[in-house]
This record gives sequence, C-alpha cells and structure tokens, in this order.
Amino acid sequence: MVAAQDIRCAICGKMIHAGCTCNRDHIIPQAVYKWAPGLCPDMTPEEYRSLAHTLRGAANVCITHIRCNAGKEDTIPEIGALHVSAQKRTQIWRLHNQVFAHILRFQRFKRRLLKAQRGCCLRCGIPLDEGGVLRRRRTDRPRVPENACLLCGPCNRSKETENLPELQTT
Ligand SMILES: [Zn+2]
Ligand SMILES: [Zn+2]
Repeated sequence: MVAAQDIRCAICGKMIHAGCTCNRDHIIPQAVYKWAPGLCPDMTPEEYRSLAHTLRGAANVCITHIRCNAGKEDTIPEIGALHVSAQKRTQIWRLHNQVFAHILRFQRFKRRLLKAQRGCCLRCGIPLDEGGVLRRRRTDRPRVPENACLLCGPCNRSKETENLPELQTT
C-alpha cells in the first residue's frame, strides 16, 4: 500500500497532501467510449462493452488534484509529460494505442462540430480555442451526432443545456 504522502498528482507532479481535493482522473476520457456507438454505428455491443471496460480500468486512472483536472475536460493530456512511473506510462501508451481508432474518430467528430459551430461555444458564444467539450444537447436523448454540441468549460460545468440554439451539422 502507498502512503498518502507518496502520492503525486499525475498532471502537475506535486504532492497530494491529506486534505487536498483530489480525484481519480481518467487519462483517456470516458467520453471516448460513451460516444463510440453513436460515432461508429456498426459497433457491436460486445465491442462497446470491451472498450468501456478497457477505459474504465485501473490502467487508465491516475490521481490528480481537482484543480489540475478541471481544465482538462475531454482532451487527452500529453502522455509523455505525465508525472507517473515508467511502468504506468507504458500502460497508458498501450491503452492509447489499443483504442486509437476510437480516439481518432472522437477527435475528428469534435473538429467537424467545431466548424459547424463556427468555432464558438453553442451556449455563450465565446471562441473555443481548446476545441470545447463534447456533450449532449439534450441529456434525455442518446449520444449521437444529431444530439451533440461543443461547450466551453464553464458552460459545460453549469450543466444547463436548455434553450440551446438549433445546429446545422450537415
Ligand atoms: Zn496537480
Ligand atoms: Zn460557453
């Protein structure tokens, strides 16, 4: 067992002290598997389960400060720059390569959507220099391209998507 004082934040590399707000951060965002069936309609349920299992597994999880994780949203940090052991880094690289086709599809879709939204947050209209966070326009509907939008960090965290303008994605 690792003593609490030995834990470093995977993103900033500083110690995580007792009482620090920290969380278990998925290095390859869980959004990659959550959106996979919608972005890849011929995916079988078995393939989905396997992808979800892989990305929810311990190999994909690091401990980070909440403040360090906050700006990351659904982007993938530079794996080479993570403050993790060599063994952990190898694990994450392996995982990354294993699900690379899904990562590419996810990122490609976000770029397409960004273009459709003219580079701006669909809710508040500020420019999305970091590419924005992919989320559902209506949370009672599935994760499919027709129900997707990109929001800035603060709008995403506000969890309010009512009254979003219609979006022409074709
Ligand atoms: Zn940190
Ligand atoms: Zn916004």
